[in-house]
Amino acid sequence: MASSGHHRVVIAGGGTAGITVAASLMRRTGRDLDIAIVEPAAMHYYQPALTMVGAGAYEMDRVGKPMADVIPSGVTHIETAIAAFDPDNNAVTLADGERMTYDYLVVATGVRLDWEKVEGLAETLGKNGVCSNYSPDHAPYTWECVRGLEPASRAVFTQPPLPFKCPGAPQKAVYMTADYLKRKGLLKGCDVSFFLHGPGIFGVPFFAKELVKVAARYGVDVRYQHNLVAVDGEAKTATFEQVAEGHEGEQITVPFDMLHVSPPQSPHEFVRKSSLANAAGWVEVDQNSMRHARHENVFALGDVTTTPNSKTAAAVRKQAPVVVRNLLHAMAGRDLEPGYDGYASCPLTTGWGKAIIAEFVYGGKVTPTFGFLDPAKEQPLGWFAKISGLPAMYWWYMLRGYEWFPEHDRNFQE
Ligand SMILES: Cc1cc2nc3c(=O)[nH]c(=O)nc-3n(C[C@H](O)[C@H](O)[C@H](O)COP(=O)(O)OP(=O)(O)OC[C@H]3O[C@@H](n4cnc5c(N)ncnc54)[C@H](O)[C@@H]3O)c2cc1C
Repeated sequence: MASSGHHRVVIAGGGTAGITVAASLMRRTGRDLDIAIVEPAAMHYYQPALTMVGAGAYEMDRVGKPMADVIPSGVTHIETAIAAFDPDNNAVTLADGERMTYDYLVVATGVRLDWEKVEGLAETLGKNGVCSNYSPDHAPYTWECVRGLEPASRAVFTQPPLPFKCPGAPQKAVYMTADYLKRKGLLKGCDVSFFLHGPGIFGVPFFAKELVKVAARYGVDVRYQHNLVAVDGEAKTATFEQVAEGHEGEQITVPFDMLHVSPPQSPHEFVRKSSLANAAGWVEVDQNSMRHARHENVFALGDVTTTPNSKTAAAVRKQAPVVVRNLLHAMAGRDLEPGYDGYASCPLTTGWGKAIIAEFVYGGKVTPTFGFLDPAKEQPLGWFAKISGLPAMYWWYMLRGYEWFPEHDRNFQE
């Protein structure tokens, strides 16, 4: 089998996590580290902004940049996909069959969007009123669908089984649409319904309590424990299977004028099949050090891991410095630090100009950055963070390897 060379560090995936780690490693080592990123995609997207594209609050051309523009200088970009991991031999196999070896591996390949798991969905996505903010190709169509709603329209929203990335994203689409209808004077005549697989609206009870009130304020018909199983685009109907005890398998079919789908999500097959994965297919790491459970020279972060945090870019922002520090500690033969506390954050846009800034760590403990604001309340600051502050922080700090909160560095010696 051909060889694609050896690198001191191979990073699998050039998304939020892969680029942040590469940039930070380069910055900390004075660009004196041999790093290769394996990433097949031509574009890098700031995915959190897709929700706002679907709400008409953000332009699509500000969401993505060519991958070549975000790969840090000095890092080798291998423009193909990884087909298999072989951690026993410190190697990966690429899509063209070549093998590549490493001293250290960082896995950051994110999640797979399983459009095909919902019958009829892939065929109709992007037309017939079927849209999704989860795809950069289709988020602009969400806004087109929202603007097309008329008096007495039916807008249906879905939320898949956990785990899926950004647990707030499906309901942000609900609130932004309901708010638009309200501002247009159409809300009272329209039916807005939200079908969720889970038994609650949000995983952290502190915020769930407030979000239930927001949904009620808009008159949203919230249906828990309903899983989308089929879409008929031509007939404009969505079929849900109930998952509540005693009703398992019972189906209901509802008509829609607009259907916003948050698709089921899973680990990529090549990750699931590898010995890096746990039984469910996610890369098994220590939830504090981010080092692999069995392979000492492997780290993972972002959506691909077993860590029980919300799968968000905000989590990556806090995981990346831990991975970088611990990777450098491992290279120097030092002990690792248990630095990641499960932090995740989600500005839950509840309408134009306001958001609940949900920030929390493992165990659902609420950890607001802005201690002077009530974290349960909708705030204009949350909206401005979502629209301006966080995108700027993403492109100019995270992806350039800076750390926003320097307390991470306090006790760190390279
Ligand atoms: C609609 C939406 C709204 C969101 N809102 C928020 C929010 O408000 N706040 C927030 O913090 N987060 C939000 N997120 C989540 C956030 O974007 C993700 O959690 C974050 O991007 C995860 O980073 P990652 O690097 O793990 O995965 P990604 O950024 O998805 O990157 C994975 C990379 O791996 C690559 N890859 C895949 N297969 C292979 C392979 N075989 N070989 C090599 N590379 C491969 C992919 O091409 C991709 O570039 C949102 C996401 C979406 C979709």
